Amino acid sequence: MEKLVCTSCGKEYSPGELRWKCVCGGFFDLHFTFSFDREKVKKRGCTMWRYRETLPLSDDKNIVSFGEGFTPLLEIKVDDTVLLVKQEQLFASGSYKDRGASLLVSKIKELGVRKVVEDSSGNAGASIASYCASAGIECSIYVPADTSRGKLVQIESYGANLVKVQGSREDTASAVAGAAANIYYASHSWNPYFFHGTKTFAYEVVEQLDWNVPDTVILPAGNGTLLLGACIGFTELKDRGITGKMPKIIGVQSLECAPVYYGYINGMQVPAKIVPGKTAAEGIAIAEPLRGWQMIEAVRSSGGEFLAVSESEIKDSFYLMAGSGYFIEPTSAAVIAGARKYLSGMEKGRREVIVTVFTGHGLKAAEKIAAWH
Ligand SMILES: *Cc1c(COP(=O)(O)O)cnc(C)c1O
Ligand SMILES: [Zn+2]
Repeated sequence: MEKLVCTSCGKEYSPGELRWKCVCGGFFDLHFTFSFDREKVKKRGCTMWRYRETLPLSDDKNIVSFGEGFTPLLEIKVDDTVLLVKQEQLFASGSYKDRGASLLVSKIKELGVRKVVEDSSGNAGASIASYCASAGIECSIYVPADTSRGKLVQIESYGANLVKVQGSREDTASAVAGAAANIYYASHSWNPYFFHGTKTFAYEVVEQLDWNVPDTVILPAGNGTLLLGACIGFTELKDRGITGKMPKIIGVQSLECAPVYYGYINGMQVPAKIVPGKTAAEGIAIAEPLRGWQMIEAVRSSGGEFLAVSESEIKDSFYLMAGSGYFIEPTSAAVIAGARKYLSGMEKGRREVIVTVFTGHGLKAAEKIAAWH
């Protein structure tokens, strides 16, 4: 059985206590042991649940799944370099957040919890609402009032109770903290089960590369649910001797909201204090990321770096991808803009296997994209 361990003071809790933070206020990581046999994996279906041993859930009957995962890893030529781009816009709810939601809602079902709250700038909320609908769990999703309408319509359609909060993303987080005093907090930033779902991104990439590790992985850095999840996955694979190294992790932020980037370039261990501006990359507009120090630590120890991209670079990358037939969210275009920045800074003639990602589907943010046309 797994345990929740406070990242600030080390105090341990059982998941059955249903706590979302430590008495000291710190957030949890999840500790558990498992062994992993890649031969077994081959015989299973092409979903993230093929890595069943790595997913902390006691009983298969509690799995809540739409057959998610094992998204294609496509070669896409960007600025004359071939990138491997994981097609995470293809999930049932339209973003990779389904990885985290599938494991977290399965665990919630296993814990016998009947009602949850979550806060989100959109996609995590849509994802949790979708899995809760499937599992028959009641949920309330708190969102900033200016979230893309497509995402709000999606959350309400699943039957979730939608709570719109005026003000910033941080105001939404404070509003939900009150509700979470009495109701289980299915948070994609606080709840470590979410990250053990998103870690399957790393398992899939490695398996799709015939059990090799790419040189470089370029990922969004908002709350870090994909970045930190991927780091968990790559670390687990290396610790079990399945792979021989960690990839270099590059985290991408929007220049208009880049606390982690500024913390990193100033040599700090924690995010910088910033005043956020307006960005089309709403999915990574997180001014005070809970796990900011973890992201900085993970990226530094991988030998990677953080990059920040401007609004015009985001828009350019959106149209570059759309012109090749890919309709992605502006937030996803920010990651591609970051990949292009990384490529432009690379030594001439250097060859690397570079993996990046389309995180969300363009249909989610059609109105915001329309405003660009
Ligand atoms: C959630 C999300 C991100 C970034 O994830 P973080 O966990 O905040 O780092 C990127 N793109 C899309 C489309 C998302 O939904
Ligand atoms: Zn603590």
